[in-house]
Amino acid sequence: MTTLLRSTIGDMDGIYRIFNSAQASLPSVVDAMKLYGIWVVFQAALFVLLPGATGYGETTPAGNRLPYKINGLLSWFLTIGVYILGALCSLWDADIVAKQWKGLMVAASTYGLTLSVVVYVKAHVNPSHSSDRKFSGSLFHDFFAGIELNPRFGALDLKLFNIGRVGMTAWTISCRNISFAASQYQNFGYVSNGMIVVNILQSLYILDFFYQEDWYVRTIDIAHDHFGFYLAWGGAAWIPSMYTLQAQYLAHYPVHLSQTRALIILLVGVFGYWMFRASNDQRTVARRTGGNCVIWGKKPVVITAHYSTSNGEKHTSLLLCSGFWGIARHFNYITDLILAFAMCAPCGTRDVFPYAYFVYMTVLLVHRSIRDEDRCSKKYGKDWELYKAQVPYALIPGIY
Ligand code: NDP
Repeated sequence: MTTLLRSTIGDMDGIYRIFNSAQASLPSVVDAMKLYGIWVVFQAALFVLLPGATGYGETTPAGNRLPYKINGLLSWFLTIGVYILGALCSLWDADIVAKQWKGLMVAASTYGLTLSVVVYVKAHVNPSHSSDRKFSGSLFHDFFAGIELNPRFGALDLKLFNIGRVGMTAWTISCRNISFAASQYQNFGYVSNGMIVVNILQSLYILDFFYQEDWYVRTIDIAHDHFGFYLAWGGAAWIPSMYTLQAQYLAHYPVHLSQTRALIILLVGVFGYWMFRASNDQRTVARRTGGNCVIWGKKPVVITAHYSTSNGEKHTSLLLCSGFWGIARHFNYITDLILAFAMCAPCGTRDVFPYAYFVYMTVLLVHRSIRDEDRCSKKYGKDWELYKAQVPYALIPGIY
Protein backbone atom coordinates (compact mmCIF):
# COMPACT_ATOMS: atom_id res chain seq x y z
CA MET A 1 0.00 0.00 0.00
CA THR A 2 2.79 2.41 0.98
CA THR A 3 4.63 1.54 -2.23
CA LEU A 4 1.47 2.11 -4.25
CA LEU A 5 0.92 5.49 -2.55
CA ARG A 6 4.52 6.50 -3.06
CA SER A 7 4.38 5.47 -6.67
CA THR A 8 1.17 7.46 -7.17
CA ILE A 9 2.68 10.53 -5.51
CA GLY A 10 5.76 10.03 -7.66
CA ASP A 11 3.54 9.92 -10.72
CA MET A 12 1.72 13.12 -9.81
CA ASP A 13 5.06 14.78 -9.32
CA GLY A 14 6.18 13.42 -12.71
CA ILE A 15 3.08 14.76 -14.42
CA TYR A 16 3.46 18.10 -12.62
CA ARG A 17 7.08 18.50 -13.67
CA ILE A 18 6.40 17.55 -17.27
CA PHE A 19 3.52 19.97 -17.64
CA ASN A 20 5.29 22.81 -15.88
CA SER A 21 8.56 22.50 -17.70
CA ALA A 22 7.41 24.31 -20.82
CA GLN A 23 6.61 27.96 -21.29
CA ALA A 24 2.92 28.79 -21.46
CA SER A 25 2.43 32.54 -21.36
CA LEU A 26 -0.04 34.02 -23.85
CA PRO A 27 2.67 35.30 -26.23
CA SER A 28 4.32 31.88 -26.20
CA VAL A 29 0.99 30.23 -27.09
CA VAL A 30 0.58 32.67 -29.98
CA ASP A 31 4.14 31.88 -31.14
CA ALA A 32 3.43 28.17 -30.84
CA MET A 33 0.25 28.59 -32.90
CA LYS A 34 2.25 30.29 -35.67
CA LEU A 35 4.91 27.57 -35.49
CA TYR A 36 2.26 24.88 -35.65
CA GLY A 37 0.56 26.59 -38.62
CA ILE A 38 3.87 26.63 -40.52
CA TRP A 39 4.35 22.95 -39.64
CA VAL A 40 0.92 21.93 -41.03
CA VAL A 41 1.32 23.99 -44.23
CA PHE A 42 4.84 22.59 -44.77
CA GLN A 43 3.57 19.02 -44.32
CA ALA A 44 0.63 19.66 -46.69
CA ALA A 45 3.00 21.04 -49.33
CA LEU A 46 5.24 17.96 -49.08
CA PHE A 47 2.19 15.67 -49.25
CA VAL A 48 0.86 17.28 -52.43
CA LEU A 49 4.07 18.25 -54.24
CA LEU A 50 6.54 15.42 -53.63
CA PRO A 51 6.53 12.65 -56.23
CA GLY A 52 5.46 9.12 -55.31
CA ALA A 53 4.24 5.81 -56.73
CA THR A 54 0.51 5.15 -56.70
CA GLY A 55 -0.88 2.73 -54.11
CA TYR A 56 -4.49 1.57 -53.83
CA GLY A 57 -6.73 1.18 -50.78
CA GLU A 58 -9.17 -1.71 -50.21
CA THR A 59 -12.48 -1.67 -52.07
CA THR A 60 -14.79 0.55 -50.00
CA PRO A 61 -18.33 -0.55 -48.95
CA ALA A 62 -19.69 1.47 -51.93
CA GLY A 63 -17.28 -0.24 -54.34
CA ASN A 64 -14.66 2.56 -54.77
CA ARG A 65 -10.96 1.76 -54.89
CA LEU A 66 -9.01 4.94 -54.18
CA PRO A 67 -5.48 5.80 -55.35
CA TYR A 68 -2.90 7.26 -52.93
CA LYS A 69 0.38 8.98 -53.73
CA ILE A 70 2.93 7.10 -51.63
CA ASN A 71 5.58 9.67 -50.70
CA GLY A 72 5.57 9.52 -46.87
CA LEU A 73 9.12 8.24 -46.50
CA LEU A 74 10.58 11.00 -48.66
CA SER A 75 8.51 13.56 -46.78
CA TRP A 76 9.72 12.16 -43.41
CA PHE A 77 13.40 12.31 -44.37
CA LEU A 78 13.04 15.81 -45.79
CA THR A 79 11.27 17.02 -42.63
CA ILE A 80 13.92 15.58 -40.33
CA GLY A 81 16.68 16.91 -42.60
CA VAL A 82 15.22 20.43 -42.47
CA TYR A 83 14.72 20.20 -38.69
CA ILE A 84 18.31 19.10 -38.02
CA LEU A 85 19.76 21.57 -40.54
CA GLY A 86 17.75 24.42 -38.98
CA ALA A 87 19.07 23.48 -35.52
CA LEU A 88 22.67 23.23 -36.78
CA CYS A 89 22.38 26.65 -38.47
CA SER A 90 20.93 28.08 -35.21
CA LEU A 91 17.64 28.99 -36.90
CA TRP A 92 15.90 27.25 -33.97
CA ASP A 93 16.95 25.28 -30.88
CA ALA A 94 17.10 21.47 -31.14
CA ASP A 95 14.73 21.29 -28.15
CA ILE A 96 12.33 23.93 -29.49
CA VAL A 97 9.38 21.54 -29.28
CA ALA A 98 10.09 20.58 -25.67
CA LYS A 99 10.40 24.29 -24.82
CA GLN A 100 7.17 25.25 -26.60
CA TRP A 101 5.38 22.08 -25.53
CA LYS A 102 2.31 23.52 -23.81
CA GLY A 103 1.64 26.11 -26.53
CA LEU A 104 2.10 23.48 -29.24
CA MET A 105 -0.38 21.18 -27.51
CA VAL A 106 -2.92 24.01 -27.43
CA ALA A 107 -2.26 24.62 -31.14
CA ALA A 108 -2.50 20.91 -32.04
CA SER A 109 -5.76 20.54 -30.11
CA THR A 110 -7.23 23.64 -31.73
CA TYR A 111 -6.24 22.40 -35.17
CA GLY A 112 -7.66 18.89 -34.49
CA LEU A 113 -10.94 20.32 -33.23
CA THR A 114 -11.25 22.74 -36.16
CA LEU A 115 -10.54 19.93 -38.62
CA SER A 116 -13.25 17.80 -36.97
CA VAL A 117 -15.78 20.59 -37.54
CA VAL A 118 -14.58 21.14 -41.13
CA VAL A 119 -14.96 17.46 -42.07
CA TYR A 120 -18.35 17.24 -40.35
CA VAL A 121 -19.66 20.20 -42.40
CA LYS A 122 -17.91 19.00 -45.58
CA ALA A 123 -19.57 15.59 -45.27
CA HIS A 124 -22.96 17.33 -45.49
CA VAL A 125 -22.29 20.00 -48.11
CA ASN A 126 -19.46 18.76 -50.32
CA PRO A 127 -18.66 15.06 -49.82
CA SER A 128 -15.81 13.50 -51.81
CA HIS A 129 -17.55 10.13 -52.24
CA SER A 130 -21.16 10.56 -51.18
CA SER A 131 -22.00 6.83 -51.38
CA ASP A 132 -19.30 6.05 -48.81
CA ARG A 133 -20.81 8.25 -46.10
CA LYS A 134 -22.21 6.72 -42.91
CA PHE A 135 -24.93 8.52 -40.92
CA SER A 136 -25.72 7.10 -37.50
CA GLY A 137 -28.68 9.35 -36.72
CA SER A 138 -26.78 10.84 -33.76
CA LEU A 139 -25.06 14.19 -34.20
CA PHE A 140 -22.59 13.35 -31.43
CA HIS A 141 -21.68 9.96 -32.93
CA ASP A 142 -21.35 11.41 -36.45
CA PHE A 143 -19.06 14.16 -35.16
CA PHE A 144 -16.96 11.75 -33.08
CA ALA A 145 -16.67 8.75 -35.44
CA GLY A 146 -17.00 10.66 -38.73
CA ILE A 147 -19.33 10.54 -41.72
CA GLU A 148 -17.03 10.44 -44.75
CA LEU A 149 -14.73 7.47 -45.19
CA ASN A 150 -11.94 9.17 -47.15
CA PRO A 151 -12.60 12.94 -47.42
CA ARG A 152 -10.34 14.80 -49.82
CA PHE A 153 -9.59 18.40 -50.80
CA GLY A 154 -8.20 17.91 -54.30
CA ALA A 155 -4.95 15.95 -53.98
CA LEU A 156 -5.00 16.23 -50.18
CA ASP A 157 -6.43 13.06 -48.62
CA LEU A 158 -7.34 14.45 -45.21
CA LYS A 159 -7.17 11.17 -43.30
CA LEU A 160 -3.82 9.92 -44.56
CA PHE A 161 -2.39 13.44 -44.30
CA ASN A 162 -3.60 14.02 -40.77
CA ILE A 163 -2.58 10.67 -39.26
CA GLY A 164 0.51 10.07 -41.34
CA ARG A 165 2.05 13.49 -41.68
CA VAL A 166 0.69 15.81 -39.01
CA GLY A 167 0.61 13.05 -36.36
CA MET A 168 3.23 10.41 -37.10
CA THR A 169 5.90 12.80 -38.40
CA ALA A 170 5.38 14.96 -35.33
CA TRP A 171 6.00 11.91 -33.18
CA THR A 172 9.63 11.68 -34.24
CA ILE A 173 11.00 15.03 -34.52
CA SER A 174 10.09 14.76 -35.56
CA CYS A 175 10.14 16.98 -33.47
CA ARG A 176 9.15 15.58 -30.29
CA ASN A 177 11.29 12.60 -29.44
CA ILE A 178 14.43 14.19 -30.86
CA SER A 179 13.46 17.36 -29.08
CA PHE A 180 12.98 15.61 -25.73
CA ALA A 181 16.33 13.83 -26.08
CA ALA A 182 17.86 17.26 -26.72
CA SER A 183 15.96 18.57 -23.73
CA GLN A 184 17.39 15.83 -21.48
CA TYR A 185 20.84 16.80 -22.74
CA GLN A 186 20.17 20.48 -21.95
CA ASN A 187 18.81 19.60 -18.48
CA PHE A 188 21.44 17.08 -17.40
CA GLY A 189 24.35 17.27 -19.85
CA TYR A 190 23.88 13.74 -21.18
CA VAL A 191 21.39 11.48 -22.98
CA SER A 192 20.68 8.39 -20.84
CA ASN A 193 20.72 4.88 -22.28
CA GLY A 194 16.98 4.57 -21.42
CA MET A 195 16.27 7.56 -23.69
CA ILE A 196 18.43 6.03 -26.44
CA VAL A 197 16.54 2.69 -26.30
CA VAL A 198 13.15 4.48 -26.44
CA ASN A 199 14.30 6.52 -29.43
CA ILE A 200 15.70 3.51 -31.30
CA LEU A 201 12.51 1.45 -30.87
CA GLN A 202 10.15 4.29 -31.67
CA SER A 203 12.20 5.39 -34.68
CA LEU A 204 12.08 1.81 -35.95
CA TYR A 205 8.29 1.79 -35.62
CA ILE A 206 7.86 5.16 -37.29
CA LEU A 207 10.32 4.42 -40.10
CA ASP A 208 8.46 1.18 -40.73
CA PHE A 209 5.18 3.12 -40.91
CA PHE A 210 6.53 5.37 -43.66
CA TYR A 211 8.45 2.65 -45.47
CA GLN A 212 5.25 0.55 -45.52
CA GLU A 213 2.89 3.40 -46.37
CA ASP A 214 1.45 1.40 -49.25
CA TRP A 215 0.43 -1.27 -46.68
CA TYR A 216 -0.95 1.34 -44.29
CA VAL A 217 -3.58 2.55 -46.81
CA ARG A 218 -5.17 -0.93 -46.59
CA THR A 219 -5.35 -1.06 -42.76
CA ILE A 220 -8.43 -0.32 -40.65
CA ASP A 221 -7.58 3.37 -40.06
CA ILE A 222 -7.73 4.18 -43.76
CA ALA A 223 -9.89 1.38 -45.19
CA HIS A 224 -12.69 1.12 -42.61
CA ASP A 225 -12.76 3.89 -39.99
CA HIS A 226 -14.60 7.05 -40.99
CA PHE A 227 -12.97 10.46 -40.48
CA GLY A 228 -14.26 12.48 -37.53
CA PHE A 229 -13.00 13.85 -34.21
CA TYR A 230 -11.54 10.45 -33.21
CA LEU A 231 -9.00 10.46 -36.06
CA ALA A 232 -8.80 14.23 -36.68
CA TRP A 233 -8.06 15.32 -33.10
CA GLY A 234 -6.50 11.94 -32.32
CA GLY A 235 -4.00 12.22 -35.18
CA ALA A 236 -3.15 15.85 -34.48
CA ALA A 237 -3.05 16.02 -30.68
CA TRP A 238 -3.27 12.55 -29.14
CA ILE A 239 -0.51 10.79 -31.14
CA PRO A 240 2.19 13.40 -30.50
CA SER A 241 1.34 13.69 -26.78
CA MET A 242 0.45 10.14 -25.69
CA TYR A 243 3.00 8.40 -27.91
CA THR A 244 5.88 10.54 -26.62
CA LEU A 245 5.10 10.12 -22.91
CA GLN A 246 8.18 8.00 -22.29
CA ALA A 247 10.53 10.53 -23.92
CA GLN A 248 8.81 13.37 -22.05
CA TYR A 249 9.25 11.49 -18.79
CA LEU A 250 12.89 10.62 -19.40
CA ALA A 251 13.70 14.23 -20.32
CA HIS A 252 12.92 15.08 -16.67
CA TYR A 253 13.73 11.81 -14.92
CA PRO A 254 16.68 10.17 -16.68
CA VAL A 255 16.91 6.41 -16.13
CA HIS A 256 20.26 4.67 -16.30
CA LEU A 257 19.80 1.03 -17.13
CA SER A 258 22.55 -1.54 -16.71
CA GLN A 259 24.00 -2.39 -20.12
CA THR A 260 22.53 -5.91 -19.85
CA ARG A 261 19.06 -4.64 -19.05
CA ALA A 262 19.17 -2.05 -21.82
CA LEU A 263 20.25 -4.75 -24.29
CA ILE A 264 17.51 -7.18 -23.19
CA ILE A 265 14.81 -4.51 -23.54
CA LEU A 266 16.19 -3.53 -26.94
CA LEU A 267 16.21 -7.16 -28.12
CA VAL A 268 12.64 -7.78 -26.86
CA GLY A 269 11.53 -4.66 -28.72
CA VAL A 270 13.30 -5.63 -31.94
CA PHE A 271 11.82 -9.14 -31.67
CA GLY A 272 8.33 -7.62 -31.16
CA TYR A 273 8.92 -5.39 -34.16
CA TRP A 274 10.09 -8.32 -36.30
CA MET A 275 6.92 -10.30 -35.46
CA PHE A 276 4.78 -7.18 -36.02
CA ARG A 277 6.19 -6.67 -39.51
CA ALA A 278 6.26 -10.39 -40.39
CA SER A 279 2.62 -10.97 -39.34
CA ASN A 280 1.35 -7.93 -41.23
CA ASP A 281 3.41 -8.90 -44.30
CA GLN A 282 1.98 -12.44 -44.33
CA ARG A 283 -1.51 -11.03 -44.81
CA THR A 284 -0.34 -8.64 -47.56
CA VAL A 285 1.57 -11.33 -49.48
CA ALA A 286 -1.21 -13.93 -49.15
CA ARG A 287 -3.78 -11.47 -50.54
CA ARG A 288 -1.51 -10.10 -53.28
CA THR A 289 -0.67 -13.57 -54.60
CA GLY A 290 -4.15 -15.03 -54.11
CA GLY A 291 -2.63 -17.58 -51.69
CA ASN A 292 0.04 -18.74 -54.17
CA CYS A 293 2.99 -18.14 -51.87
CA VAL A 294 4.94 -19.85 -49.13
CA ILE A 295 4.33 -19.05 -45.45
CA TRP A 296 6.45 -20.80 -42.83
CA GLY A 297 7.67 -23.24 -45.48
CA LYS A 298 4.22 -24.27 -46.73
CA LYS A 299 1.48 -23.16 -49.08
CA PRO A 300 -0.83 -21.12 -46.81
CA VAL A 301 -4.29 -22.25 -45.68
CA VAL A 302 -6.83 -19.71 -46.95
CA ILE A 303 -10.59 -19.19 -47.13
CA THR A 304 -12.13 -17.41 -50.11
CA ALA A 305 -14.66 -15.13 -48.45
CA HIS A 306 -17.61 -13.59 -50.33
CA TYR A 307 -19.16 -10.16 -49.80
CA SER A 308 -21.27 -7.55 -51.65
CA THR A 309 -20.78 -3.79 -51.94
CA SER A 310 -23.72 -1.39 -51.63
CA ASN A 311 -23.87 -0.96 -55.45
CA GLY A 312 -24.92 -4.64 -55.61
CA GLU A 313 -21.64 -5.97 -57.00
CA LYS A 314 -20.33 -9.26 -55.65
CA HIS A 315 -16.64 -9.61 -54.63
CA THR A 316 -14.32 -12.15 -53.06
CA SER A 317 -11.49 -11.65 -50.62
CA LEU A 318 -8.99 -13.97 -49.06
CA LEU A 319 -8.75 -14.83 -45.35
CA LEU A 320 -5.41 -16.28 -44.28
CA CYS A 321 -5.66 -19.09 -41.70
CA SER A 322 -2.04 -20.14 -41.25
CA GLY A 323 1.30 -18.62 -40.23
CA PHE A 324 0.80 -15.90 -37.58
CA TRP A 325 -2.83 -15.68 -38.69
CA GLY A 326 -3.35 -19.31 -37.67
CA ILE A 327 -2.23 -18.58 -34.06
CA ALA A 328 -5.00 -16.05 -33.41
CA ARG A 329 -7.24 -13.87 -35.58
CA HIS A 330 -5.52 -10.65 -34.43
CA PHE A 331 -2.09 -11.93 -33.47
CA ASN A 332 -0.55 -8.87 -35.16
CA TYR A 333 -1.98 -6.83 -32.24
CA ILE A 334 -0.11 -8.97 -29.68
CA THR A 335 3.18 -8.35 -31.52
CA ASP A 336 2.47 -4.61 -31.37
CA LEU A 337 1.85 -4.86 -27.62
CA ILE A 338 5.18 -6.62 -27.03
CA LEU A 339 6.88 -3.74 -28.81
CA ALA A 340 4.78 -1.18 -26.89
CA PHE A 341 5.87 -2.72 -23.58
CA ALA A 342 9.52 -2.59 -24.65
CA MET A 343 9.06 1.10 -25.50
CA CYS A 344 7.96 1.75 -21.88
CA ALA A 345 10.37 -0.57 -20.02
CA PRO A 346 13.37 1.83 -20.40
CA CYS A 347 11.55 4.17 -18.00
CA GLY A 348 12.27 1.69 -15.19
CA THR A 349 10.04 0.88 -12.23
CA ARG A 350 10.12 4.17 -10.31
CA ASP A 351 6.74 5.34 -11.66
CA VAL A 352 3.81 3.72 -13.44
CA PHE A 353 3.01 6.93 -15.33
CA PRO A 354 5.21 6.25 -18.43
CA TYR A 355 3.47 2.86 -18.83
CA ALA A 356 0.27 4.71 -19.75
CA TYR A 357 1.25 4.21 -23.40
CA PHE A 358 1.23 0.43 -23.01
CA VAL A 359 -2.10 0.50 -21.11
CA TYR A 360 -3.60 2.76 -23.79
CA MET A 361 -2.39 0.50 -26.62
CA THR A 362 -3.86 -2.56 -24.87
CA VAL A 363 -7.28 -0.90 -24.52
CA LEU A 364 -7.12 0.42 -28.11
CA LEU A 365 -6.21 -2.92 -29.69
CA VAL A 366 -8.56 -5.10 -27.60
CA HIS A 367 -11.42 -2.74 -28.43
CA ARG A 368 -10.32 -2.68 -32.07
CA SER A 369 -10.33 -6.48 -32.27
CA ILE A 370 -13.93 -6.52 -30.97
CA ARG A 371 -14.99 -3.84 -33.47
CA ASP A 372 -13.25 -5.63 -36.32
CA GLU A 373 -14.83 -8.98 -35.48
CA ASP A 374 -18.23 -7.34 -35.59
CA ARG A 375 -17.56 -5.63 -38.94
CA CYS A 376 -16.04 -8.70 -40.60
CA SER A 377 -18.86 -10.90 -39.36
CA LYS A 378 -21.40 -8.56 -41.03
CA LYS A 379 -19.28 -8.31 -44.19
CA TYR A 380 -18.48 -12.00 -44.72
CA GLY A 381 -21.36 -13.75 -42.90
CA LYS A 382 -20.95 -17.54 -42.90
CA ASP A 383 -17.43 -17.33 -44.38
CA TRP A 384 -16.34 -15.47 -41.25
CA GLU A 385 -17.90 -18.23 -39.09
CA LEU A 386 -15.88 -20.74 -41.12
CA TYR A 387 -12.74 -18.71 -40.40
CA LYS A 388 -13.55 -18.57 -36.68
CA ALA A 389 -13.97 -22.34 -36.63
CA GLN A 390 -10.54 -22.67 -38.25
CA VAL A 391 -8.84 -20.08 -35.96
CA PRO A 392 -10.87 -20.10 -32.72
CA TYR A 393 -9.02 -17.46 -30.64
CA ALA A 394 -9.14 -13.72 -31.23
CA LEU A 395 -5.92 -12.62 -29.51
CA ILE A 396 -4.24 -15.12 -27.17
CA PRO A 397 -4.54 -18.85 -27.89
CA GLY A 398 -6.30 -20.75 -25.09
CA ILE A 399 -7.37 -17.54 -23.31
CA TYR A 400 -9.33 -15.19 -25.59
P1 NDP B 1 -5.34 -5.41 -39.58
O1 NDP B 1 -4.20 -5.01 -40.42
O2 NDP B 1 -5.24 -6.68 -38.82
O3 NDP B 1 -6.58 -5.44 -40.53
C1 NDP B 1 -7.78 -6.06 -40.17
C2 NDP B 1 -8.50 -6.29 -41.47
O4 NDP B 1 -7.80 -7.32 -42.19
C3 NDP B 1 -9.89 -6.81 -41.28
O5 NDP B 1 -10.79 -5.73 -41.11
C4 NDP B 1 -10.11 -7.53 -42.58
O6 NDP B 1 -10.36 -6.53 -43.59
C5 NDP B 1 -8.75 -8.14 -42.87
N1 NDP B 1 -8.57 -9.46 -42.29
C6 NDP B 1 -9.05 -9.96 -41.13
N2 NDP B 1 -8.65 -11.22 -40.94
C7 NDP B 1 -7.91 -11.54 -42.02
C8 NDP B 1 -7.22 -12.73 -42.43
N3 NDP B 1 -7.22 -13.82 -41.68
N4 NDP B 1 -6.58 -12.71 -43.59
C9 NDP B 1 -6.56 -11.61 -44.38
N5 NDP B 1 -7.18 -10.44 -44.05
C10 NDP B 1 -7.85 -10.42 -42.88
O7 NDP B 1 -5.75 -4.32 -38.51
P2 NDP B 1 -5.31 -2.85 -38.18
O8 NDP B 1 -5.45 -2.00 -39.36
O9 NDP B 1 -6.06 -2.48 -36.96
O10 NDP B 1 -3.78 -2.99 -37.75
C11 NDP B 1 -2.66 -3.07 -38.60
C12 NDP B 1 -1.43 -3.02 -37.70
O11 NDP B 1 -1.28 -1.71 -37.20
C13 NDP B 1 -1.50 -3.96 -36.52
O12 NDP B 1 -0.29 -4.66 -36.35
C14 NDP B 1 -1.77 -3.06 -35.35
O13 NDP B 1 -1.17 -3.56 -34.18
C15 NDP B 1 -1.16 -1.74 -35.80
N6 NDP B 1 -1.87 -0.59 -35.22
C16 NDP B 1 -1.15 0.33 -34.53
C17 NDP B 1 -1.77 1.42 -33.97
C18 NDP B 1 -0.99 2.41 -33.20
O14 NDP B 1 -1.59 3.40 -32.77
N7 NDP B 1 0.30 2.26 -33.00
C19 NDP B 1 -3.22 1.66 -34.13
C20 NDP B 1 -3.87 0.63 -34.89
C21 NDP B 1 -3.21 -0.44 -35.41
P3 NDP B 1 -11.07 -6.82 -44.99
O15 NDP B 1 -12.39 -6.11 -44.91
O16 NDP B 1 -10.13 -6.22 -46.00
O17 NDP B 1 -11.21 -8.30 -45.13
